[in-house]
Amino acid sequence: MIKTKLECLLAQIRQAEIAYERIPGSVLLLAVSKTKTAMEIAQAYSAGQRHFGENYCQEALKKQYELGAYDITWHFIGPIQSNKTKLIAKHFSWVHSVDSLKIARRLSEQRPDSLPPLNVCIQVNISGEHSKSGVNLHELSQLCEDVTALPNIKLRGVMGVPMPEDDFECQRKPFRTLFQAVIKLSNYDLDTFSFGMSGDLNAAIAEGSTMVRIGTALFGNRG
Ligand SMILES: *Cc1c(COP(=O)(O)O)cnc(C)c1O
Repeated sequence: MIKTKLECLLAQIRQAEIAYERIPGSVLLLAVSKTKTAMEIAQAYSAGQRHFGENYCQEALKKQYELGAYDITWHFIGPIQSNKTKLIAKHFSWVHSVDSLKIARRLSEQRPDSLPPLNVCIQVNISGEHSKSGVNLHELSQLCEDVTALPNIKLRGVMGVPMPEDDFECQRKPFRTLFQAVIKLSNYDLDTFSFGMSGDLNAAIAEGSTMVRIGTALFGNRG
């Protein structure tokens, strides 16, 4: 049952905050609802969940429409095609997966004036050759500078999606590297580390995550 899973997850997050000496309540749960139905989202909502993450634009818009009466904060976390930036800029509050200035510019230009600036995280490739998405670490500082200059975007932080690892210490390492790099960028007022999924949330919290993106552990396996 989604309510029970949500309660377990929140308890696990609170425990990890204590275990790794994080400020209680400093890690937000983002429920990743890709492939899940509006009904399942509604169940999590009734249990108190407000932040939901989606990877595919059309799929998300359909659910947003069905859930129009709900006070949900929508996050876009999937790969961004240029021809989708307009819809993303219009229908989401957050985008975690910005990995080029071109995409950031389009999102800023296409963000409706009636809405507050779009919250953006830059996706950083922390698994080397294995990943095609995300900027390399040495490109991060320049992209932060360029994105900060865009009027309708608020740069909030970074998203890291490392290769899946079973070993806890191996899970921690890429998060630690990215965290260390980001705290050096002290002139950008970054407050968001979008780190951690179902399989590595404790490691992510140990290394400074402020937002864990959880699908499977909340909604079960995706078909
Ligand atoms: C699907 C997805 C998640 C959730 O993954 P789970 O392992 O199901 O928790 C988190 N982040 C991104 C970017 C995803 O695509």
